[in-house]
Amino acid sequence: MFTAYISIGSNIGNKKKNLEAAIELLGRDEKIQVRKVSPFYRTEPQNFKDQDWFVNGAVQIDTQHEVDELLTVLKTIERDLDKAGKSFRWGPRIIDLDIVYYEDLVLETGQLTVPHPRMHERCFVLRPLCDIGPSTIHPVLKMKSTALLKSVEKDKNQTVLPLKEEE
Ligand code: ADP
Ligand code: MG
Repeated sequence: MFTAYISIGSNIGNKKKNLEAAIELLGRDEKIQVRKVSPFYRTEPQNFKDQDWFVNGAVQIDTQHEVDELLTVLKTIERDLDKAGKSFRWGPRIIDLDIVYYEDLVLETGQLTVPHPRMHERCFVLRPLCDIGPSTIHPVLKMKSTALLKSVEKDKNQTVLPLKEEE
């Protein structure tokens, strides 16, 4: 049994519903148990700015999948919820599922980098991650996720706001 943290995001359609649908599908996998779901946030797009704001969250799971199998499961869920697929890298998408941490594994292959290679510079990943895994530690940087969050929270270009009930 392995514990992993998954970052989820959407910026097309009913974003909150898309996140909920992805979490539902995660939980239906017989080798995944959803343990914790973070609050959701409204977040400013990064990299490619000229697109709608995202809704982001994080999920803590226990899983019997090896990490490469877990990536395959995430990609299948992305495809199931997003038949058309995203048009370009960092462009708008119905759902994005990333492996943030998998135990304290450090891995780099052509397909998969764990911890996620950009998570430590992204407030939209770290904010919900810290809600459900405040004691987690980045196995490469050897820093607590909460410390990583503190340094990116100063970035004025990374607005992350609580998602209100009615949104
Ligand atoms: P990002 O999630 O960084 O915005 P994309 O979703 O466009 O970028 O990238 C998709 C590709 O990233 C996937 O096809 C996958 O092979 C690769 N990838 C590498 N590391 C990870 C990871 N930790 N979690 C999810 N995908 C990853
Ligand atoms: Mg991704």
